[in-house]
Amino acid sequence: MTVFHENARDLPIACQVDVLVVGAGPSGVAAATAAARAGRDTMIIEHYGFCGGMATAGMSGAICGLFSSGKTGKPQQLVDGFAGEFYHLLKQRRAVSAPFPFGDTALVVHDPHVWKEIADDLLAESGVKVLFHTQMTEIIMEDGAVAGVIIENKSGRQVILAKRFIDATGDGDLCVKAGVPHTVGRNGMVQYPTMVFRMSNVDIPHGIGHPVPQLEAWVDEARRQGYHLPRRHIYLLPSPRPDEVMCNVTSILRDDGRPIDATNAGDLTWAEQRGRKQVREYERFLQNFVPGFEHARLNDVATQIGIRQSRTIVGQVTLTNDDVFHARKSQRSVAKSAWCIEAHNKDGIFMFYLDNDYYDIPYDTLLPESVPNLIAPGRILCAEHEALASARVTAQCFLTGYAAGTAASLSLKTSVPFDGVNVNELRSIIEYSM
Ligand SMILES: Cc1cc2nc3c(=O)[nH]c(=O)nc-3n(C[C@H](O)[C@H](O)[C@H](O)COP(=O)(O)OP(=O)(O)OC[C@H]3O[C@@H](n4cnc5c(N)ncnc54)[C@H](O)[C@@H]3O)c2cc1C
Repeated sequence: MTVFHENARDLPIACQVDVLVVGAGPSGVAAATAAARAGRDTMIIEHYGFCGGMATAGMSGAICGLFSSGKTGKPQQLVDGFAGEFYHLLKQRRAVSAPFPFGDTALVVHDPHVWKEIADDLLAESGVKVLFHTQMTEIIMEDGAVAGVIIENKSGRQVILAKRFIDATGDGDLCVKAGVPHTVGRNGMVQYPTMVFRMSNVDIPHGIGHPVPQLEAWVDEARRQGYHLPRRHIYLLPSPRPDEVMCNVTSILRDDGRPIDATNAGDLTWAEQRGRKQVREYERFLQNFVPGFEHARLNDVATQIGIRQSRTIVGQVTLTNDDVFHARKSQRSVAKSAWCIEAHNKDGIFMFYLDNDYYDIPYDTLLPESVPNLIAPGRILCAEHEALASARVTAQCFLTGYAAGTAASLSLKTSVPFDGVNVNELRSIIEYSM
């Protein structure tokens, strides 16, 4: 390969803070809010011009992981803390649906625009410095720790220095640059991405609540008639708006079955274009096959292809599939979850529901093996493939993010690395128990 030699140059130091959060998805917003509430000079940088990551840009649509799960009884709210707070704020602004059944548990569907507004308010109220339209591109290491990051935006290339760093990029960008090892799905097979869209003018009483086998039968019939519908198990969720449905129905894989690598711009480009084509095919299918959608029309499409999984860090402890299957508890837990394993695999969605129980996510799953002042909450925490397919959802990203931001403050208070933080003190601040 021919190369271009980039000359070394001096970069302006834009600012120096206590805590730098990279990425303003659910885990980043929670982390920055927590660190700033604890009195730390905190900054968050984000590639987009708004917060939410996959919850807004990817329009994931719902908050999963808030409720209990069981074959009997009605799902009850199981987790609180920052996840409960955000849910409460959505309810106050009438921007979230009533709990909607999902197998043996439930979810709530949110309005993505109000999600962004709430995040703006939380960051402003807690005093976080926010910089949008900014990409973290490089990292500065000193003595095995992160000293700063190089950012790029329309103002050019600059440096931000900090004492503690939170990798909330969803892709582990900081961790990888800092040399933290990572894994990718099950032997490279990650969950497929989805291009989410919303249909309006839906006759909700007739369009929502069709049993999964019935929806699959309609997909099968449409396929026989020549429709290109790669996914059978589709989710149609009622949005908080009166006649609108959140459609999580597409699945994007390469034609040869190869998974999309969300850290490869070529793959992402292909996925965006294929995603938009699939949206039109599923729109046509819904209008022609699913009662209630006869007069529905495409309302909007996610800003970007929805990425469920890319890199997973190698942490000090792994959340194993068995931890989820056997609902294991941990004295060092910073988040609990009764959300199902919902693995969107190439050959279909693997589902496993907990029965009147929950599992714990230990603090140590957020700690990269070797870098003392770096922590990694959200969908990159250290977990086996199926376990991650449960722990990656929004409520748990809120909880692990808030724990990471709080841990950053505690580690500064006692001048210890992240793995020296007193987890009991951390748990008392994040209100681990409901
Ligand atoms: C199609 C789909 C459907 C889903 N459905 C649901 C659902 O119904 N309910 C639910 O609870 N969860 C759902 N999820 C999961 C949930 O949305 C995500 O797991 C969650 O948003 C992950 O949060 P995060 O903060 O870890 O990362 P992300 O949401 O991915 O946020 C990462 C942020 O970092 C920014 N960023 C990345 N790299 C950089 C960089 N180098 N510099 C600056 N900024 C950067 C990104 O722009 C982004 O805003 C779904 C996900 C997908 C993809």
